[in-house]
This record gives sequence, structure tokens and C-alpha cells, in this order.
Amino acid sequence: MSAIVAIVGRPNVGKSTFFNRLIQRREAIVDAVSGVTRDRHYGKSDWNGREFTVIDTGGYVLGSDDVFEKEIDKQVELAIGEADAVIFMVDVETGVTGMDEDVAKLLRRVDKPVFLAVNKVDNPQRLQDAVEFYSLGLGEYYPISSINGSGSGELLDELVKVLPEKTEQESELPRFAVVGRPNAGKSSFINALIGEERYIVTDIAGTTRDSIDTRYNRFGFEFNLVDTAGIRRKAKVREDLEFYSVMRSIRAIEHCDVCILLLDATRGFDGQVENIFWLAQRNNKGIVILVNKWDLVEKDTQSVKQYTKVIKQAVEPFTDVPILFISALTKQRIYKAIETAVEVYKNRSKRIPTRKLNDVLLPIIEHTPPPAYKGKYVKIKYITQLPTPYPQFAFFCNLPQYVREPYKRFLENKLREHFDFTGVPVTIFMRKK
Ligand code: GDP
Ligand code: GDP
Repeated sequence: MSAIVAIVGRPNVGKSTFFNRLIQRREAIVDAVSGVTRDRHYGKSDWNGREFTVIDTGGYVLGSDDVFEKEIDKQVELAIGEADAVIFMVDVETGVTGMDEDVAKLLRRVDKPVFLAVNKVDNPQRLQDAVEFYSLGLGEYYPISSINGSGSGELLDELVKVLPEKTEQESELPRFAVVGRPNAGKSSFINALIGEERYIVTDIAGTTRDSIDTRYNRFGFEFNLVDTAGIRRKAKVREDLEFYSVMRSIRAIEHCDVCILLLDATRGFDGQVENIFWLAQRNNKGIVILVNKWDLVEKDTQSVKQYTKVIKQAVEPFTDVPILFISALTKQRIYKAIETAVEVYKNRSKRIPTRKLNDVLLPIIEHTPPPAYKGKYVKIKYITQLPTPYPQFAFFCNLPQYVREPYKRFLENKLREHFDFTGVPVTIFMRKK
């Protein structure tokens, strides 16, 4: 884990502009349109060779609702709790506001390095205006312009000096991506899982957010959660957000080991959900299907069976996928969901020794050999699992081109019968020997 730096401050002071500058990649949506609320963003940054993680605590446009005022306090406190250092950002254009004073009060009490960044100091006149921020009682401040980058070097020089040395190791933890259509309950699921209000779930339209990769240790499992939740439709920039939403899902899927595909039980396994499923399958990712909002479904003894059948039909022939019926609301089976994702993760990284593979499969093949094709007989000699991060098997034989799809599927089914590959796409290659 690298050191963590949190950027806090009231809305519209330029936190996400600065955040984007730090991570130098498009990871966060910056949106000055009022009515937009955001959650926290995480990103990697480095300065003078020191790597650290930045958290943008998000901005909430106030005046609309008291809810947000409380939320921002909570977000600030959470961020402070996690961070090794805090950048408190204020805006020279507006000068000191009541909310700045509130946040400053919070920060004066914390036992962590706080850097007061006076933003939007785009010109020398504003440099003088910045003086008033001494009144916040936080000592020295750093005048910066997130837009043109001035001043940020001085700030970062001092910042990295106080960061603790932490050894960076690329984690070998399972990476789970929570994906699905908007409103499937992804945020609620994550909330329920983490048992802490890190994520804001409200019905207020216009919540926008990018995917977040966060590390968790829950239920005795340690894993990274790649979260695409909360990207909502928003009237004005709807296309943009849909676009982001899709891009994020794709990227989240690409960078995960197991896809936790959530769907709304009341809406069913529709075409959109199916698209996400096949995207994960094509990328050779593990998959767990969670039918969420099961609490809303009128059930009888056949409901699970019937629902399962419908989904299995939609995902033919890759039907060896766990399907769980959960409720993020009542927390029903959410532990089981993570446990299953961990199992799928293990299945995906499973390696079958060549000897065992051949001991099991060769007798089966001998008993049911590939059917003759164009009068030729195919002889499979041995099998080996390829050294890839996900299960791929090579069947060495005399005439690989004569083995047809149905027989390959037969082999895949036998593999699945004898070695648990539930939730994981398996690839079979015929190789010339
Ligand atoms: P956040 O709500 O604190 O994350 O603020 P944003 O990063 O979304 O910025 C709010 C507005 O301030 C946007 O319109 C930005 O373009 C603008 N802004 C951010 N940094 C600067 C700056 O250094 N100078 C000026 N003039 N505007 C800035
Ligand atoms: P997201 O867009 O996928 O992150 O979905 P949200 O987590 O924001 O949930 C969308 C709506 O569905 C919210 O109103 C939630 O309260 C509601 N919801 C989520 N999960 C459940 C559930 O298991 N049962 C019920 N009844 N409602 C749920």
C-alpha cells in the first residue's frame, strides 16, 4: 500500500481539477453544473519518485438539501481517518466561507499533516487575496492554480516529505468488479458488504461517479473491489454519462479477476445484463450472477428454480455459473456472495497437474473418442493446462483440425465435472502432435 493523501474541502473549490492533475489520467468527472453530487475518487500519483494514493472526497452542491451537509462531514471524517496527509482546499475567488471554517475546525483537531491549498490563484493579484486564509488557524498555506498548475510543485515537495515510507507491492489479492445496469443495487450491495457508509446511496438523481478500486478485508477475506456503481443518468449530459458508464464497466471488467454481475430481480436478466455477461466471458473473467432485490419478488417454492432456468438458458452454453438470490437491502446472502466470488477466484487460478489431468481424461476419451470426420480418426495423446492466468487446456492429437465444436464442448464438460471450474470460462485448444 502506498501512502494516502486526501483532498478535502467544500464543493467547487477545485478538488477534482487538482485531483485530475495529480493522477494525470481521466479518472474523475469534473462537473461544475449545480445539482451534481459525487462520491470519493481514488487515484495513483507520484512526485519525485514517491508514489501515493490520492482520494478526492467529492463535492456536494449545497443549498439543495441538508442531507448533503451531513454527508460531507462524514466524507471528510472518513477521508481523514484513512489518510496519511490531508490537503485542505479553499477557493481564493470566494474567500473564507463558513463552511471552510467548519472544516478547518475539524482539521485543527486531527493529528495528521494538513496542507492548506488556496486554489484558483491564477494571477499575482489573487496571490495577495490569499492572505486572508491565515484566519483559518492552520498556519502556512500554498497558493496554487489547479487549472494552470502553478504552485503545485511547492505543495507536493512538502507533501511527499511527510508521507510515511511504505513498501509498494502489487497486490495479489482477488479483484472483484461489481457491475450491472444502473439501479441494479450495486452501491447498496457494496454498502451492505462493507458495513460502513463509504458510499452514498440516495435516490436523488444526478449522482455521478467513476469506478473505484478499494481494498477490503471482510469476512476473513481480503480483496479489492472494483466498483462501477453510482453512474447515473443525468438529463443534460446523459449521453456522456452513459458513455462513461459503459467505458467504466469495460475497464472494470478488464482489470478484474471476477465479475460480480448484479441484476434487479424485478427487471430480469435482460439484453443489457446479457451484454455485460458476455463481455466478462470473452475476457475470460470469473463470473458470479447475483439476482438482487429478491426481497421484492413474490416467491413460491419454484421461484428460484424457475429464475435460474431462465438465466441458464440465456447464458448457454456457459451455464456452469453460480447464481445467487440476494437482497442488498436485507443483507440476505451477501456474505455467501463474497464467499462464492472467492471460490470462483480460486477456480480461475486453479492449476491441474498434467499427470492428474491425463489420468482422469484419457480413459474418458478412450471410451468416447472424437467421432471420425471425413473418414479420419483423431487420436488424442495427452493433455496439459497452459501456464495462463485463466484455465486453458491443450489437447495434443494427430489431426487437431478434425475435432469439431461439439466434441470440444464434451471435453469441457468432462473437465468441469472432474475439476471444479464453476464460474470460470474454460478454453480448449487442439494442438498437433
Ligand atoms: P470540486 O467540487 O471541489 O471538486 O471542484 P471542481 O474541480 O469541480 O472545480 C469547480 C470549478 O472551479 C470548475 O469550474 C473548475 O474549472 C474551476 N477551477 C478549478 N480549479 C481552478 C483554478 O485553479 N482556477 C480557476 N480559475 N478555476 C478553477
Ligand atoms: P446502483 O445504481 O446499481 O448502484 O443501485 P443502488 O444501489 O443505488 O440502488 C438503486 C435503488 O434500488 C435504490 O433505491 C436502492 O435502495 C434500491 N435497492 C438496492 N438493493 C435493493 C434490494 O436488495 N432490495 C430492495 N427492495 N431495494 C434495493
